[in-house]
Amino acid sequence: MNVVVLLGAPGAGKGTQAPPLAARLGIPVVATGDLFRAAVRDGSQLGREARRYMDAGQLVPDEITVSLLLERLARPDAAAGVILDGFPRTAVQAKALDVALAERGASVSVAILVDVPADELVRRMSGRWICRAAGHPYHETSSPPRAAGICDVDGSELYQRADDQPTTIRARMDQQLGALAQVVEHYRASGVLRTVDGLQPIEAVSAAVGAALAGTGVAMAR
Ligand code: ADP
Ligand code: ADP
Repeated sequence: MNVVVLLGAPGAGKGTQAPPLAARLGIPVVATGDLFRAAVRDGSQLGREARRYMDAGQLVPDEITVSLLLERLARPDAAAGVILDGFPRTAVQAKALDVALAERGASVSVAILVDVPADELVRRMSGRWICRAAGHPYHETSSPPRAAGICDVDGSELYQRADDQPTTIRARMDQQLGALAQVVEHYRASGVLRTVDGLQPIEAVSAAVGAALAGTGVAMAR
């Protein structure tokens, strides 16, 4: 089982890199932010609970997040491996993932940190548009869609996330960067951390992410 963890601050480019990487590796993307947004849209109990935290820029509590993730990992399409985007985001989540994988005789193959300075994160989130169908991200200046307001990949409508407002962007950085540093340390300690420069153009970041897989045992399907 190949488990690739994409790490990065909010707005670093995880959601941009994950789908093309998934296509190359032949395994699905599991993005907890997308799972939470789908639950909010469905109006489920979990969605109502998660929304309170998301709207405030805070992390959803570990217990809720871990159970959502483990449910997703148990689905058959995840058996050969997954790309995790936005999970783990705390040391508790990282440990819970290690335990769940160990029960299947697996472990995190590689954790790739997409490293981007704070002022650029604000610029990226402020101009972000994502698609309704699958959360594919665009940027109004650095990565615009071919047709205004429409996803290149699936043709669905683009919208701006409620939490991509200036005050919530600042709250997310204040609340989440400390926890990210702990997760980075977790993977540095276990020897699977790779860091890529996320300030480069999207294609150059993709190439660096591909290069970071060398020697990790994660094989490209194409
Ligand atoms: P971004 O792409 O900006 O990093 P995400 O779409 O990954 O944001 O997440 C949006 C929100 O969903 C987060 O701000 C947080 O409230 C919640 N969330 C997503 N993943 C997690 C997680 N692993 N732990 C706790 N909260 C999460
Ligand atoms: P994350 O999932 O880490 O929160 P996204 O992939 O949603 O980040 O990217 C945040 C915003 O930055 C989006 O508007 C996206 O189009 C844009 N973006 C992503 N990567 C780059 C890059 N390398 N250079 C410029 N803009 C980027």
